[in-house]
Amino acid sequence: MLGTPQAVEVSEGIYAYVQPDGSWYINNTGFVTGGGGVISIDTCSTRRRTRAYLDAVAAVTGEPIRTLLNTHHHGDHTYGNCLLPQATIVGHDRCRTEVLASGPPANLGIWTDVDWGDLTVAPPFLTYHDGVTLWAGDLRCDVRYVGTPAHTTNDSIVHVPDRSVLFAGDLLPRGSTPFLLMGSIAGAIEVLEDVLRPLGAQVIIPGHGPVCGPEVIDEVLGYLRFVQDVAARGREQGLSALDAARQADLGRYAGWLDSERIVGNLHRGYAELDGAERGQPIDLIAAVGDMITYNGGRPLTCHA
Ligand SMILES: [Zn+2]
Repeated sequence: MLGTPQAVEVSEGIYAYVQPDGSWYINNTGFVTGGGGVISIDTCSTRRRTRAYLDAVAAVTGEPIRTLLNTHHHGDHTYGNCLLPQATIVGHDRCRTEVLASGPPANLGIWTDVDWGDLTVAPPFLTYHDGVTLWAGDLRCDVRYVGTPAHTTNDSIVHVPDRSVLFAGDLLPRGSTPFLLMGSIAGAIEVLEDVLRPLGAQVIIPGHGPVCGPEVIDEVLGYLRFVQDVAARGREQGLSALDAARQADLGRYAGWLDSERIVGNLHRGYAELDGAERGQPIDLIAAVGDMITYNGGRPLTCHA
Protein backbone atom coordinates (compact mmCIF):
# COMPACT_ATOMS: atom_id res chain seq x y z
CA MET A 1 0.00 0.00 0.00
CA LEU A 2 1.43 3.32 -1.07
CA GLY A 3 -0.85 5.54 0.99
CA THR A 4 -2.66 8.68 -0.10
CA PRO A 5 -0.73 11.80 -1.12
CA GLN A 6 -1.35 14.68 1.25
CA ALA A 7 -0.88 18.44 1.35
CA VAL A 8 0.79 19.32 4.66
CA GLU A 9 0.91 22.96 5.81
CA VAL A 10 4.45 23.35 7.14
CA SER A 11 4.18 27.09 7.82
CA GLU A 12 1.31 29.51 7.26
CA GLY A 13 0.44 29.32 3.55
CA ILE A 14 3.37 27.02 2.74
CA TYR A 15 2.54 23.42 1.86
CA ALA A 16 4.42 20.25 1.16
CA TYR A 17 2.57 17.75 -1.05
CA VAL A 18 3.92 14.42 0.07
CA GLN A 19 3.39 11.32 -2.03
CA PRO A 20 4.04 7.99 -0.31
CA ASP A 21 6.13 5.97 -0.60
CA GLY A 22 8.67 8.21 -2.31
CA SER A 23 10.16 5.52 -4.55
CA TRP A 24 10.95 5.84 -8.29
CA TYR A 25 8.85 8.59 -9.93
CA ILE A 26 6.83 9.24 -6.76
CA ASN A 27 8.08 12.67 -5.78
CA ASN A 28 7.06 15.49 -3.49
CA THR A 29 5.90 18.83 -4.76
CA GLY A 30 4.94 21.88 -2.76
CA PHE A 31 3.28 25.23 -3.03
CA VAL A 32 3.24 28.67 -1.51
CA THR A 33 0.05 30.71 -1.39
CA GLY A 34 -0.53 34.41 -0.92
CA GLY A 35 -0.45 37.53 -3.02
CA GLY A 36 -3.19 36.40 -5.39
CA GLY A 37 -1.27 33.60 -7.04
CA VAL A 38 0.25 30.30 -6.04
CA ILE A 39 3.89 29.33 -6.54
CA SER A 40 4.20 25.61 -7.28
CA ILE A 41 7.45 23.81 -6.68
CA ASP A 42 7.59 21.01 -9.27
CA THR A 43 4.81 18.85 -10.69
CA CYS A 44 4.39 15.05 -10.65
CA SER A 45 5.36 12.24 -13.00
CA THR A 46 2.00 11.15 -14.42
CA ARG A 47 -1.14 12.91 -15.57
CA ARG A 48 -3.19 11.26 -12.86
CA ARG A 49 -0.78 12.19 -10.07
CA THR A 50 -0.42 15.76 -11.28
CA ARG A 51 -4.22 16.15 -11.53
CA ALA A 52 -4.55 14.92 -7.95
CA TYR A 53 -1.89 17.42 -6.90
CA LEU A 54 -3.71 20.29 -8.62
CA ASP A 55 -6.94 19.20 -6.90
CA ALA A 56 -5.11 19.32 -3.57
CA VAL A 57 -3.96 22.88 -4.30
CA ALA A 58 -7.50 23.88 -5.28
CA ALA A 59 -8.85 22.40 -2.04
CA VAL A 60 -6.63 24.77 -0.06
CA THR A 61 -6.87 27.99 -2.03
CA GLY A 62 -8.90 29.57 -4.80
CA GLU A 63 -5.79 31.31 -6.10
CA PRO A 64 -4.51 30.12 -9.48
CA ILE A 65 -1.02 28.68 -9.85
CA ARG A 66 0.78 31.50 -11.62
CA THR A 67 4.38 30.37 -11.21
CA LEU A 68 5.90 26.89 -11.46
CA LEU A 69 9.48 26.36 -10.37
CA ASN A 70 11.32 23.17 -11.35
CA THR A 71 14.00 22.02 -8.89
CA HIS A 72 15.68 19.95 -11.64
CA HIS A 73 14.85 18.31 -14.94
CA HIS A 74 13.98 14.73 -13.93
CA GLY A 75 10.59 13.56 -15.19
CA ASP A 76 9.14 12.82 -11.77
CA HIS A 77 9.33 16.59 -11.14
CA THR A 78 8.55 17.94 -14.62
CA TYR A 79 6.42 15.60 -16.74
CA GLY A 80 3.26 17.18 -15.29
CA ASN A 81 4.34 20.73 -16.25
CA CYS A 82 2.08 20.69 -19.29
CA LEU A 83 -0.98 20.57 -17.04
CA LEU A 84 -0.26 24.14 -15.93
CA PRO A 85 -0.63 26.01 -19.22
CA GLN A 86 -1.36 29.32 -17.45
CA ALA A 87 1.76 29.28 -15.30
CA THR A 88 5.15 30.81 -15.98
CA ILE A 89 7.55 27.86 -15.80
CA VAL A 90 10.83 28.85 -14.16
CA GLY A 91 14.06 26.87 -13.92
CA HIS A 92 17.80 26.84 -14.30
CA ASP A 93 19.15 27.31 -17.84
CA ARG A 94 20.32 23.68 -17.98
CA CYS A 95 17.03 22.44 -16.54
CA ARG A 96 15.35 23.72 -19.69
CA THR A 97 18.00 22.12 -21.91
CA GLU A 98 17.71 18.76 -20.16
CA VAL A 99 13.90 18.71 -20.10
CA LEU A 100 13.96 19.26 -23.87
CA ALA A 101 16.68 16.63 -24.38
CA SER A 102 14.85 14.05 -22.26
CA GLY A 103 11.56 14.33 -24.15
CA PRO A 104 8.16 12.99 -23.08
CA PRO A 105 7.73 9.94 -20.83
CA ALA A 106 7.97 6.48 -22.37
CA ASN A 107 8.10 2.89 -21.16
CA LEU A 108 11.62 1.75 -22.02
CA GLY A 109 11.86 -1.45 -20.02
CA ILE A 110 14.12 0.16 -17.40
CA TRP A 111 11.23 0.41 -14.97
CA THR A 112 8.03 -1.61 -14.75
CA ASP A 113 5.53 0.01 -17.13
CA VAL A 114 3.78 3.18 -16.01
CA ASP A 115 0.48 4.64 -17.20
CA TRP A 116 1.83 8.15 -17.80
CA GLY A 117 -1.35 9.56 -19.35
CA ASP A 118 -1.38 12.16 -22.09
CA LEU A 119 1.56 14.48 -21.43
CA THR A 120 3.60 16.83 -23.59
CA VAL A 121 6.99 18.38 -22.93
CA ALA A 122 6.75 21.76 -21.20
CA PRO A 123 10.19 23.09 -20.23
CA PRO A 124 10.95 26.16 -18.12
CA PHE A 125 10.70 29.25 -20.34
CA LEU A 126 11.94 31.75 -17.82
CA THR A 127 15.44 30.61 -16.95
CA TYR A 128 18.27 31.85 -14.77
CA HIS A 129 21.94 31.18 -14.24
CA ASP A 130 22.39 31.78 -10.50
CA GLY A 131 18.90 32.20 -9.12
CA VAL A 132 15.82 34.37 -8.92
CA THR A 133 13.55 35.66 -6.17
CA LEU A 134 9.85 34.81 -6.22
CA TRP A 135 7.35 36.61 -4.02
CA ALA A 136 4.17 35.21 -2.52
CA GLY A 137 2.70 38.54 -1.51
CA ASP A 138 5.27 39.90 0.95
CA LEU A 139 6.90 36.52 1.47
CA ARG A 140 10.32 36.17 -0.10
CA CYS A 141 11.13 32.80 -1.72
CA ASP A 142 14.77 32.57 -2.77
CA VAL A 143 15.37 30.26 -5.72
CA ARG A 144 19.01 29.39 -5.97
CA TYR A 145 21.04 27.21 -8.31
CA VAL A 146 23.35 25.24 -6.01
CA GLY A 147 26.43 26.11 -8.04
CA THR A 148 27.75 22.72 -9.11
CA PRO A 149 26.47 19.41 -10.45
CA ALA A 150 25.12 17.37 -7.50
CA HIS A 151 21.97 15.25 -7.94
CA THR A 152 21.89 16.46 -11.57
CA THR A 153 23.63 19.24 -13.47
CA ASN A 154 20.81 21.69 -12.74
CA ASP A 155 19.65 21.48 -9.13
CA SER A 156 17.91 24.43 -7.53
CA ILE A 157 16.49 24.92 -4.06
CA VAL A 158 13.73 27.18 -2.79
CA HIS A 159 14.45 28.78 0.56
CA VAL A 160 11.90 30.81 2.50
CA PRO A 161 14.17 32.55 5.01
CA ASP A 162 11.44 34.25 7.06
CA ARG A 163 9.89 30.85 7.79
CA SER A 164 13.05 28.73 7.93
CA VAL A 165 11.60 26.44 5.24
CA LEU A 166 13.64 24.75 2.52
CA PHE A 167 12.41 22.89 -0.55
CA ALA A 168 15.46 20.77 -1.26
CA GLY A 169 14.45 18.80 -4.34
CA ASP A 170 16.33 15.54 -4.75
CA LEU A 171 19.49 16.82 -3.10
CA LEU A 172 17.81 15.51 0.03
CA PRO A 173 15.64 12.44 -0.36
CA ARG A 174 14.30 11.01 2.91
CA GLY A 175 14.03 7.26 3.30
CA SER A 176 14.88 6.58 -0.31
CA THR A 177 18.35 6.11 -1.73
CA PRO A 178 20.07 9.25 -3.09
CA PHE A 179 20.81 8.99 -6.81
CA LEU A 180 23.91 10.65 -8.22
CA LEU A 181 24.32 8.91 -11.57
CA MET A 182 23.66 12.10 -13.56
CA GLY A 183 25.36 14.50 -11.18
CA SER A 184 28.32 14.31 -8.83
CA ILE A 185 28.97 12.67 -5.49
CA ALA A 186 31.71 15.16 -4.60
CA GLY A 187 29.47 17.99 -5.76
CA ALA A 188 26.54 16.77 -3.69
CA ILE A 189 28.71 16.56 -0.55
CA GLU A 190 29.94 20.11 -1.15
CA VAL A 191 26.42 21.43 -1.72
CA LEU A 192 25.03 19.80 1.44
CA GLU A 193 27.88 21.11 3.58
CA ASP A 194 28.43 24.55 2.07
CA VAL A 195 25.06 25.58 0.63
CA LEU A 196 22.23 23.73 2.35
CA ARG A 197 23.49 23.33 5.92
CA PRO A 198 24.44 27.02 6.39
CA LEU A 199 20.86 28.05 5.56
CA GLY A 200 19.89 26.60 8.94
CA ALA A 201 16.39 25.72 7.75
CA GLN A 202 14.34 24.02 10.45
CA VAL A 203 11.76 22.54 8.09
CA ILE A 204 12.95 20.65 5.04
CA ILE A 205 10.71 19.35 2.28
CA PRO A 206 12.72 16.57 0.67
CA GLY A 207 12.27 15.63 -2.99
CA HIS A 208 10.97 12.25 -1.84
CA GLY A 209 9.74 11.09 1.57
CA PRO A 210 8.20 12.73 4.64
CA VAL A 211 8.80 16.32 5.71
CA CYS A 212 11.78 16.50 8.03
CA GLY A 213 14.31 18.69 9.76
CA PRO A 214 18.01 19.39 9.26
CA GLU A 215 18.97 15.90 10.49
CA VAL A 216 18.34 14.66 6.95
CA ILE A 217 21.46 16.49 5.79
CA ASP A 218 23.76 14.27 7.88
CA GLU A 219 21.81 11.15 6.92
CA VAL A 220 22.36 11.82 3.24
CA LEU A 221 25.99 12.92 3.75
CA GLY A 222 26.61 9.60 5.49
CA TYR A 223 25.36 7.72 2.45
CA LEU A 224 27.35 9.83 -0.02
CA ARG A 225 30.58 9.17 1.89
CA PHE A 226 29.68 5.49 2.09
CA VAL A 227 29.43 5.40 -1.72
CA GLN A 228 32.80 7.09 -2.06
CA ASP A 229 34.34 4.52 0.32
CA VAL A 230 32.84 1.56 -1.53
CA ALA A 231 34.01 3.01 -4.85
CA ALA A 232 37.55 3.55 -3.58
CA ARG A 233 37.80 0.03 -2.15
CA GLY A 234 36.23 -1.51 -5.24
CA ARG A 235 38.72 0.27 -7.47
CA GLU A 236 41.59 -0.90 -5.29
CA GLN A 237 40.38 -4.49 -5.56
CA GLY A 238 39.85 -4.22 -9.30
CA LEU A 239 36.11 -4.84 -9.06
CA SER A 240 33.58 -3.62 -11.59
CA ALA A 241 30.99 -1.16 -10.29
CA LEU A 242 28.42 -3.96 -10.39
CA ASP A 243 30.60 -6.38 -8.41
CA ALA A 244 31.53 -3.68 -5.91
CA ALA A 245 27.79 -3.07 -5.41
CA ARG A 246 27.08 -6.78 -5.04
CA GLN A 247 29.78 -7.21 -2.43
CA ALA A 248 28.94 -4.06 -0.49
CA ASP A 249 27.13 -4.40 2.81
CA LEU A 250 24.54 -1.63 2.61
CA GLY A 251 24.08 -1.82 6.38
CA ARG A 252 21.66 0.83 7.59
CA TYR A 253 21.06 1.96 4.02
CA ALA A 254 19.66 -1.43 2.98
CA GLY A 255 16.22 -0.37 4.22
CA TRP A 256 16.14 2.76 2.09
CA LEU A 257 13.91 2.50 -0.99
CA ASP A 258 15.39 1.78 -4.42
CA SER A 259 18.64 0.43 -2.98
CA GLU A 260 19.72 -0.67 -6.49
CA ARG A 261 20.74 2.95 -6.99
CA ILE A 262 24.01 1.93 -5.33
CA VAL A 263 25.03 0.54 -8.72
CA GLY A 264 24.44 3.78 -10.62
CA ASN A 265 26.05 5.71 -7.80
CA LEU A 266 29.16 3.54 -8.01
CA HIS A 267 29.36 4.11 -11.77
CA ARG A 268 29.49 7.82 -10.96
CA GLY A 269 31.91 7.22 -8.08
CA TYR A 270 34.26 5.28 -10.35
CA ALA A 271 34.10 8.01 -12.99
CA GLU A 272 35.03 10.59 -10.38
CA LEU A 273 37.95 8.47 -9.17
CA ASP A 274 39.07 8.37 -12.80
CA GLY A 275 39.02 12.15 -12.97
CA ALA A 276 35.64 12.79 -14.59
CA GLU A 277 34.35 16.32 -14.24
CA ARG A 278 31.31 16.77 -12.06
CA GLY A 279 28.20 16.04 -14.07
CA GLN A 280 30.21 14.85 -17.06
CA PRO A 281 28.06 12.52 -19.17
CA ILE A 282 28.94 8.87 -18.51
CA ASP A 283 27.65 5.66 -20.07
CA LEU A 284 24.08 5.65 -18.76
CA ILE A 285 23.10 2.54 -20.71
CA ALA A 286 25.85 0.50 -19.05
CA ALA A 287 24.98 1.89 -15.62
CA VAL A 288 21.24 1.28 -15.97
CA GLY A 289 21.90 -2.19 -17.39
CA ASP A 290 23.96 -3.00 -14.31
CA MET A 291 21.20 -1.72 -12.05
CA ILE A 292 18.77 -4.11 -13.71
CA THR A 293 21.26 -6.99 -13.40
CA TYR A 294 21.68 -6.16 -9.70
CA ASN A 295 17.89 -6.24 -9.47
CA GLY A 296 17.86 -9.87 -10.62
CA GLY A 297 17.49 -8.99 -14.32
CA ARG A 298 14.05 -7.49 -13.76
CA PRO A 299 12.98 -3.92 -14.57
CA LEU A 300 13.20 -1.65 -11.55
CA THR A 301 9.99 -1.47 -9.56
CA CYS A 302 8.01 1.70 -10.28
CA HIS A 303 4.64 2.34 -8.66
CA ALA A 304 3.97 5.72 -10.30
ZN1 LIG B 1 12.84 12.93 -7.91
